[in-house]
Amino acid sequence: MFIVLKPGVSDAERERLLSELRAQDLTALAVTGNGERAYGLVGPSSLLETLALDRHPLIEEVIRDSAPYKRASRALHPEDTVVSVGGIPVGGERFVVIAGPCAVESAAQIDAAAAAVAAAGALALRGGAYKPRTSPYSFQGHGPDALSLLAAASVRHGLPVVTEILDAADLEHFRGRVGALQVGARNMQNYTLLRAVGRSGLPVVLKRGLSATVEELLLAAEYILNEGNDGVILVERGIRTFETATRNTLDLNAVAWLKRHTHLPVLVDPSHGTGLAELVGPLARAAVAVGADGLLVEVHPAPAEALSDGRQSLSPDAFARLMRELRPFVDAAGRRL
Ligand code: PEP
Ligand code: MN
Repeated sequence: MFIVLKPGVSDAERERLLSELRAQDLTALAVTGNGERAYGLVGPSSLLETLALDRHPLIEEVIRDSAPYKRASRALHPEDTVVSVGGIPVGGERFVVIAGPCAVESAAQIDAAAAAVAAAGALALRGGAYKPRTSPYSFQGHGPDALSLLAAASVRHGLPVVTEILDAADLEHFRGRVGALQVGARNMQNYTLLRAVGRSGLPVVLKRGLSATVEELLLAAEYILNEGNDGVILVERGIRTFETATRNTLDLNAVAWLKRHTHLPVLVDPSHGTGLAELVGPLARAAVAVGADGLLVEVHPAPAEALSDGRQSLSPDAFARLMRELRPFVDAAGRRL
């Protein structure tokens, strides 16, 4: 349930109402972008109904919405949120392509990748410094050294960086070097990490868990929003299904559903979504058509030599082709590359 206060309600009156609600064990969450008049109410629904809030003298409107997420909801925040990633607006008119290797492997590799993706029209650089690998024996990333290499490539090629954080204890290594923190699929329900990245004040690219529902994704976003951090970008990156021909099943339903139910920007990752480089282009075009705000794409200067995710990584030439082939779809969607 949401309530909207009458215009002209004084601070003292608002405080009185909020403490009345607190006394009933209800939590009122301020929803931004509504002139401080809108609140999402969290508490037992039976209690909410018995309170007769529609007749409360300070309340203009009661909106009955049973969704458990409040700050992420479009119900009282109809306009799209635009999140700035190092000065690049995500969620606005531009269709934002963020590209780069799965992992930062060397200075030469990240520099070549950054040069290639910048030349082809990507607006931000991705690359993992800390890698969440299924096997502890696989390449785990170069950690803080990789963050330094990313920062250098960022400056040289004019692209803000998006890179994954696995442990809140590493936050200080990221600060000042990244445009946004990525929370990966495996950590989507790591609530301690979500609270910490929320408190960091940095924008967060939050990837859907391998078997998380869209509601669970929005509740994960809510952990970050609850820390006063409005800079949340969601990513559909494919989910586990019975299908094994592709690495994951890219759930485009989720993108269309999310665009209706949340004001947060939604990106699509067709690289992890399919696991196959040859399917990245078709699914990238589908992402534009279904209303995504941009893409996360893996690009490696030499995919066959990549230390992780080479099979789904595009070569610089293939990425330049993807960008060319994307353009008419982006135009048709009324967006700008
Ligand atoms: C990645 O972006 O390289 C990554 C590990 O993604 P995900 O968390 O979606 O698996
Ligand atoms: Mn990867």
